[in-house]
Amino acid sequence: MENRLPGEQGPVERSSGGLVERYGRRAFIISAATAVSAFAFWALRRSTVAAARPMTADEGPRTVTIVEFSADGKQTGTVTVPRVIKTDDEWKKVLSTTSYRVTRHEDTELPFTGDSWNLHDRGLFRCICCDLALFSSETKFDSGTGWPSFWQPIAEENVVKTVDGSLMEVRTAVSCRLCDAHLGHVFDDGPAPTGLRYCMNSASLRFVKLG
Ligand SMILES: [Zn+2]
Repeated sequence: MENRLPGEQGPVERSSGGLVERYGRRAFIISAATAVSAFAFWALRRSTVAAARPMTADEGPRTVTIVEFSADGKQTGTVTVPRVIKTDDEWKKVLSTTSYRVTRHEDTELPFTGDSWNLHDRGLFRCICCDLALFSSETKFDSGTGWPSFWQPIAEENVVKTVDGSLMEVRTAVSCRLCDAHLGHVFDDGPAPTGLRYCMNSASLRFVKLG
């Protein structure tokens, strides 16, 4: 019984230790792979930024019909107004670097970095470029993505949806009706009642708190 050969217990212990080590290493490899693919997505996304181009004055309609909201969040009516058009340099002067890249060059901010993904106050989210009301806190939900997410815009008239094939998958981009600012994308995996997830960039929005 006691006269095991020297080293007889050894391989078991070493084997056990090795198993844990192997699982640990595997978990590390899996998390590293996730990080690598996230980075690959980011790098791929970055490569599309240069290709984006702001709409010029002679493209698209000269006037747009939008729904206006007052400072206290009430709908005040539908109006037809001239589109807000500025040159790329003009936008660059009035926006932060992140807001400029996101809204005018269809970039995407890093998740969990914006100022409204984790905001739960009551209020309106307006376009950072032209102040048009775009989303209400009443339709905001926690998507866990690190980007502010809503199940519907404050008024369908105030956003434009276009097919975006800039990455490997075809997505639906969402932009501001009044000034063409890129806001984010809409996906069909959102909560009731619409089943939609408007995945926005904090950098595209200006939050106005309601009392
Ligand atoms: Zn706008």
